[in-house]
Amino acid sequence: MARTKRKRKQTKKKFSWETLKKLPTVLVVILLAAVFVLGVLHEMGKIDLSKYFAGQVVSEKAQVPEGYENAETKVHFIDVGQGDSIFIETTGKTILIDAGEREYGEKVTDYISALGVKKIDIVIGTHPHSDHIGGLPQVLDSIEAGLIILPKIPDEMVPATKTYEQLLTVIANKQIRAVMASDTLRFDWSDSAGGQLSFEILGPLSDEYTDLNNFSVVSKLTYKDVSFLFTGDAEKAAEDDMLYYDKDVSATVLKMGHHGSSSSSSAAFLREVSPLAAVIQCGEGNSYGHPNEEALKRIGKYTERIYRTDLRGTVVVYTDGETAVAGFERAS
Ligand SMILES: [Zn+2]
Repeated sequence: MARTKRKRKQTKKKFSWETLKKLPTVLVVILLAAVFVLGVLHEMGKIDLSKYFAGQVVSEKAQVPEGYENAETKVHFIDVGQGDSIFIETTGKTILIDAGEREYGEKVTDYISALGVKKIDIVIGTHPHSDHIGGLPQVLDSIEAGLIILPKIPDEMVPATKTYEQLLTVIANKQIRAVMASDTLRFDWSDSAGGQLSFEILGPLSDEYTDLNNFSVVSKLTYKDVSFLFTGDAEKAAEDDMLYYDKDVSATVLKMGHHGSSSSSSAAFLREVSPLAAVIQCGEGNSYGHPNEEALKRIGKYTERIYRTDLRGTVVVYTDGETAVAGFERAS
């Protein structure tokens, strides 16, 4: 007894870094491990997502990856060849961003109808290029739309194309409410269990761009811990403005800008987005060389989960707001 007491007293008195050095190595290892685990717990949301964000091949679009049968939010990156079309299916709201070239209007319409959707609450025409708005007139002609968000473009840059004219005509004929894109636009709603969802417009933030791509409407969907950033064809100038104006571009899933072109997805932008997965919408064997090798290298620093519609066909991301999984039409 007496010896133990004395020993304790001595330890207390003489505690120093020297004493710490004498601690058994195993104890030090345990201490370091504990510090590490605490750090991991702090980042729990991200770690969880990273663990569960596994790709699964689904043979049919209607087939849902295992464990996600009840996922209330699905983001469909519809394969429209060299173009963009994204359909967001949630409890309480549906959103369509672009509809590919004109010849894909029917495919997008059928795809959305097959999901049992009768009304699209929000439609976005990111910018007036045919690979984005070409298919929209047909979709809007066939399915009811709540409102359409379009970017404000300086008069001298408004394209005098038949495609754009057709879009404006259907908006007028169907008396669809047209809203000018603004970074003050935000929609909030909740899922069946009260989980919060939000959809906000982050760009464009300038009316002085020289390239139509930079006028792309940039939007972000947030469902609890999981978020998606949709960039249209926004290039570096638009990305820089979002960083300059301190927009929260961080996202779990990034739809890479301009079909994975070198002029988008700058290193500084990707650092802020810091995605766990990326989707590139581009056509098989497209003549533009999309996606660009350098852009792939840049995104590769953040994630290996790069889902390309030219290789995978339609990509669907299922999420319950805490974890997410991607389903593909083709293995690769
Ligand atoms: Zn495009």
